[in-house]
Amino acid sequence: DSVFAHVLRAPEDPILGVTVAYNKDPSPNKLNLGVGAYRTEEGKPLVLNVVRKAEHQLVNDITRVKEYLPIVGLAEFNKQSAKLIFGANSPAILENRVATVQCLSGTGSLRVGGEFLARHYHERQIYIPLPTWGNHPKVFTLAGLSVKTYRYYDPSTRGLNFQGLLEDLGSAPPGAIVLLHACAHNPTGVDPTLEQWDQIRKLMRSKQLLPFFDSAYQGFASGSLDTDAQPVRLFVADGGECFVAQSYAKNLGLYGERVGALSIVCKNADVASRVESQLKLVIRPMYSNPPIHGASIVATILKDRNLFDEWTIELKSMADRIISMRQQLFDALRARGTPGDWSHIIKQIGMFTFTGLNPEQVSFMTKEYHIYMTSDGRISMAGLSSRTVPHLADGIHAAVT
Ligand code: PMP
Repeated sequence: DSVFAHVLRAPEDPILGVTVAYNKDPSPNKLNLGVGAYRTEEGKPLVLNVVRKAEHQLVNDITRVKEYLPIVGLAEFNKQSAKLIFGANSPAILENRVATVQCLSGTGSLRVGGEFLARHYHERQIYIPLPTWGNHPKVFTLAGLSVKTYRYYDPSTRGLNFQGLLEDLGSAPPGAIVLLHACAHNPTGVDPTLEQWDQIRKLMRSKQLLPFFDSAYQGFASGSLDTDAQPVRLFVADGGECFVAQSYAKNLGLYGERVGALSIVCKNADVASRVESQLKLVIRPMYSNPPIHGASIVATILKDRNLFDEWTIELKSMADRIISMRQQLFDALRARGTPGDWSHIIKQIGMFTFTGLNPEQVSFMTKEYHIYMTSDGRISMAGLSSRTVPHLADGIHAAVT
């Protein structure tokens, strides 16, 4: 008999499992709104034009080799990534007090940051919003941190529970780490206003809470890379320290290339360089060094003025298509006279709408309409098109009436 005979079957991942179920469904009308990946109006995955161009350049450059990258990744990629999130004129960059390392997309950046904190920071507790991306608690627990939550979403208003957020962060132990979604909060689509961000910043700085930004959607929320980076830049501008995990999965459509970065903004250049030396000790035994291809694509685009400008246009058109899906879905529900206030569909931002549908309604829609989404009622607006909006609106209408 197998020495693994005792191994129990694990449940599917709650998010990726939605696609597994979708793939098994033979219905021609099936609709996958589970995973947060951009689709065109034709329902197809999109490789950005700038990515194709950068790949052409890379392939045609016969001087390029496939040697290992350094442990910290591609230097040009790290430099450009820091500029992208903090701004080209960020004092933190000019003063050399940012340690940036290339990691395996957003997830890997969060994990490396979490492992570093568990080894070198005095406080183990990390506060994550309630709700949050389902992988957050697992990533940080396995990194060795102790996960707590702070109130974030108010189901009654389908908006931010700002009072609850301030109370919970206000009673967190001094020094606690706080995970913040830089923009386009997943799964709720609800972000603080800039004024609220500044209040959060003041409270956190007064209690020495350590900000850890998860930036998985820069440019996807508003369509502007700079606008979406404002909350992060607000925290960096006060001179305090912070962590940022960046992902290029969504904004450059590089999902499977696994390209991202972790930046730690420190008080001074000396601390930053010691922090970087320790990040290498976290990374080396995990995967030695990161992959070269995706980072080369990103570096090629970010350092070339023309490619960069072209990217901002493609990014804006993805963001605009998502915003137009919100309007179309809202209009379709109105046209059907679907009971309830659906204005949150157009108010929420980013890739997802937190519909407010409960797990029973979700499973009804999957069974009767072959519409797939996570059981918390989160739908990916990027997976919708003008052609599929009526089917979704029919499903929601039937589920709530
Ligand atoms: N953080 C959030 C909030 C996300 O939604 C995602 C992707 N779903 C990630 C991080 C990480 O994604 P990736 O590892 O593919 O960059």
